Amino acid sequence: MALFSRPLSTLMTTAAVVLAGLAAAPMARAQQFGQQPIDPNLAVAIASPVREGVLYNLMILEQIPNQRQCWQEQAQGNGPVTVEPLLLNFDFTGACDRKTDSNGYSVRINDQDLGVHYRLEISPRQNDLVLFARPTRDRSAPPIEIGRTNGRANGFLRVQLNPGWQIARRTYNGQPVGHIYLTHAAPMAVALATGTNPPLSQTPSTPPPARPTAPPIQTPPPPPSGTTPTGNHFRVVVPITGGDTLQRVRAIEPESFRTTVNGEAVVQVGLFSEQQRANEVYRSLVAASLPAKILSAAAPAVASTPSLPPIPRGATVVVIDPGHGGRDPGAVGIGGIQEKQINTTISNRVQQQLQAAGITVLMTRSSDVYVSLEARTQFANRAGANLFVSIHANAISMSRPEVNGLETYYFSSGERLARSIHSAVLRNVNMRDRGVRQARFYVLRHTTMPSVLVETGFVTGAEDAARFRDPAAVNRIADGIARGILDYLGR
Ligand SMILES: [Zn+2]
Repeated sequence: MALFSRPLSTLMTTAAVVLAGLAAAPMARAQQFGQQPIDPNLAVAIASPVREGVLYNLMILEQIPNQRQCWQEQAQGNGPVTVEPLLLNFDFTGACDRKTDSNGYSVRINDQDLGVHYRLEISPRQNDLVLFARPTRDRSAPPIEIGRTNGRANGFLRVQLNPGWQIARRTYNGQPVGHIYLTHAAPMAVALATGTNPPLSQTPSTPPPARPTAPPIQTPPPPPSGTTPTGNHFRVVVPITGGDTLQRVRAIEPESFRTTVNGEAVVQVGLFSEQQRANEVYRSLVAASLPAKILSAAAPAVASTPSLPPIPRGATVVVIDPGHGGRDPGAVGIGGIQEKQINTTISNRVQQQLQAAGITVLMTRSSDVYVSLEARTQFANRAGANLFVSIHANAISMSRPEVNGLETYYFSSGERLARSIHSAVLRNVNMRDRGVRQARFYVLRHTTMPSVLVETGFVTGAEDAARFRDPAAVNRIADGIARGILDYLGR
């Protein structure tokens, strides 16, 4: 999950973990993945400082052979090894691969995927930084120590892996997929903690929305074997069983949309290249008592990750994410007004305003194309963006024209940005205030920087839909969003 700014944890004792019982059921699907070790000279685990070293994130760099160098190392006696990730200075596409969020890497022991049960994190221990696999469900269970930096220094530090640990690629049907493992092959009994869902690792200032008690982890059904296409993508859908299915799904994943798969009317929640991501979304739907399914799917023709332009050194980078697009219109409201068009108009104006203020703005889409949620968040993460702002319009029901107003969402680290944007829009536009809210939206959970999703009004609301038809008023919404971002950045 994109919860990266967790508070530093207290010291802990560690080492090879105890207890018994690799529970059989949750492991079943792990067998579908294989692994392929990476030459230790071509991959490095790095403690990447956040907020001047108040926190550290794990970053894994992989050098593509015979390409431009991705990083330089500098040893300091017996102390830590400083790493300069050169990729920050050039367009590294094709030369380096960088994973900076917990969906890009996970832990695997004895050929068992433990990504659901352990989260990789870097915590201080005395004058050291230690890479741990920390249990996600039972916080009192012992973490597994994987490596350490052998001291502290400014900047990026190499994590020296403990004996037996290595970096490997995940494979599926023998082919490498874009996911990295920290693996250990020696026999090691691992405690699979049981119990409730992991708590939010950062205490939110407002409680998360009430949710039904989560069921125990369920193993999603494997993709039907007879229909496995060439692409190994995973489509998460919810069959439409009632008039409120779309609404209920959107309460969890707001970019979901109605479509037809194999003649069945469904809400498509996401299309993922990695099964782990599909499983996460699946579980959040099941936890809300929605009859989700994972289907295999061909890789989408147009949902590739947008390519990353060169980024000027030292630039402040803001990713603007116009919601929906292409075959996904988003919400459709009064008079047939389409959310994707509103999102595009507002996003383009926000881009112009920020660029005029000297900000480097990257757009997750710049035309009317479908881009998956995964591609949007990967794009922002790869860009190393400072901020991520997703722009949407809301919908409830055509029979609820009285519901209108601005909502601004964050999940973990975006709260201050959300408040800044929300108040700037309300200063600029005379519209109803539905508040700053916390929600588990995909794009908020899977981005590694402060991120916000703005619902700029209801296409189904009489007041808001009228405003969306007034170009001057739409510009005022956009200008408010831009102002809120600039205020946050102190510009
Ligand atoms: Zn939307």
